Amino acid sequence: MITRISDRVRFAGTTDVVVIGAGHAGLAASYFLNEQSIDHVVLERGEVANSWRNERWDSLKLLTPNWQSRLPGFSYSGKDPHGFMSMPEVIEFIEGYAAFSGAPVRTRTTVTSVKSAGDGYCVVTDKGTWKTKAVVLASGACNTASVPRVAESVPSHIAQLTPQDYRNPSQVKDGGVLVVGASASGLQLADELQRAGHDVTIAVGEHVRIPRAYRGHDIQFWMDRTGIMNERYDEIDDIVRARGLPSPQLVGSNEPGLLDLNHLTGNGAKIAGRLMGVNSGVAQFSGSLRNVCALADLKMKRLLDGIDQWVLGHSVLCDAPRRFDATQVDESPALTLNLDGENIRTIIWATGYRPDYSWLDVPVLDRKGRLRHDGGVVNAPGMYVLGLPMMRRRKSSYIHGIEDDARELMSHLAGYLHHSLPREGQYEMGPGPSYVNVAV
Ligand SMILES: Cc1cc2nc3c(=O)[nH]c(=O)nc-3n(C[C@H](O)[C@H](O)[C@H](O)COP(=O)(O)OP(=O)(O)OC[C@H]3O[C@@H](n4cnc5c(N)ncnc54)[C@H](O)[C@@H]3O)c2cc1C
Repeated sequence: MITRISDRVRFAGTTDVVVIGAGHAGLAASYFLNEQSIDHVVLERGEVANSWRNERWDSLKLLTPNWQSRLPGFSYSGKDPHGFMSMPEVIEFIEGYAAFSGAPVRTRTTVTSVKSAGDGYCVVTDKGTWKTKAVVLASGACNTASVPRVAESVPSHIAQLTPQDYRNPSQVKDGGVLVVGASASGLQLADELQRAGHDVTIAVGEHVRIPRAYRGHDIQFWMDRTGIMNERYDEIDDIVRARGLPSPQLVGSNEPGLLDLNHLTGNGAKIAGRLMGVNSGVAQFSGSLRNVCALADLKMKRLLDGIDQWVLGHSVLCDAPRRFDATQVDESPALTLNLDGENIRTIIWATGYRPDYSWLDVPVLDRKGRLRHDGGVVNAPGMYVLGLPMMRRRKSSYIHGIEDDARELMSHLAGYLHHSLPREGQYEMGPGPSYVNVAV
């Protein structure tokens, strides 16, 4: 039989599992599939750790300390356990993991479609089509910056950037900057631009304020020890809301002081409420600024109260409790900002991220485009997801959070391949929770 070249290009191979994405989540999935001798391939559109290479700003450092950077069978072994990795260091760490785990990664292979086919899936890529029984979506939770529709009303002479386009202050025109969003990305970029000499205004919606260090330990030490990060998705009252919560206001630095709104306003930044609209060049803000700041202060206090309570019952060497100043907000914060009048030349939309499933041709998305899944078991036979916020636990989207999720889900997947077709609840998913009841 004569095989045409085009046919050979179109068929890439048959395997039991296709893992999409070679960030830490895809590599962790591969580690557990290897452990169970399950035939698989990891498809990656760029290089290993592609998001850290191409979608982060230059000065970013992990907000989780080095000692916490651990993946299945692998952990940080450098000389600075209390430091924070820069982007080149994160890339090296994840590349090191790929080499250690021997993951069968096909780089520069973009998945353009996933379709149901018989009792499995066809995974179409720009390098050919894979036939597989199961698929693991490890393509990331932060593929696209979420920009609100109000961006369409911004006058065209004002530059607009997202944290994915932004690299460093040299990109930003002289003049004022409006940063929309006061979570980790927004505060870090606001701080960097203010240090670079820009007048900065920050539009502040709901946010999570936590200190970098507390009672002589990094906050992540407490989150780890108290078990907060292990809290499971099926024990959280409002999981939809919890999954939408913003990232905590943290920066990867041991410099004393908090990166919070008080730090920024102390250095001259202005704060306003949530951005609601832009009309004829005038930005309009919600009147809720005092409330959202008071709520964030209250939640931080509750978190610290919970840690103090936990310390009473455990033997941990630590400093005395302390409390932090309330967020300083004007009595009557401004509700409007004339963008030209205040010389705002750039708006940075630090308004969150979302995954991109535009290539997923299986009906597993809800009306809002969110994946329908139960703790990572997607609503389609043999399909799994890894790395989404609070997917199985509070720590699910963090590097150190992948191990438990990947172990449990790849074990579930192994059961599926053995034709028991288990669903959540029918299959052993690992030990129960271990956490204290502290609100974050
Ligand atoms: C600004 C920022 C800071 C963060 N800081 C921390 C931190 O300090 N500590 C921490 O633990 N976590 C942090 N996170 C969260 C999390 O660790 C990262 O988002 C991490 O990149 C997620 O890993 P992942 O493997 O799930 O996804 P990704 O790293 O995004 O990997 C997904 C991979 O899939 C590939 N891919 C996507 N679509 C396709 C396709 N169609 N075909 C082929 N390949 C595809 C991508 O190229 C990418 O390489 C941060 C996230 C962001 C956005």
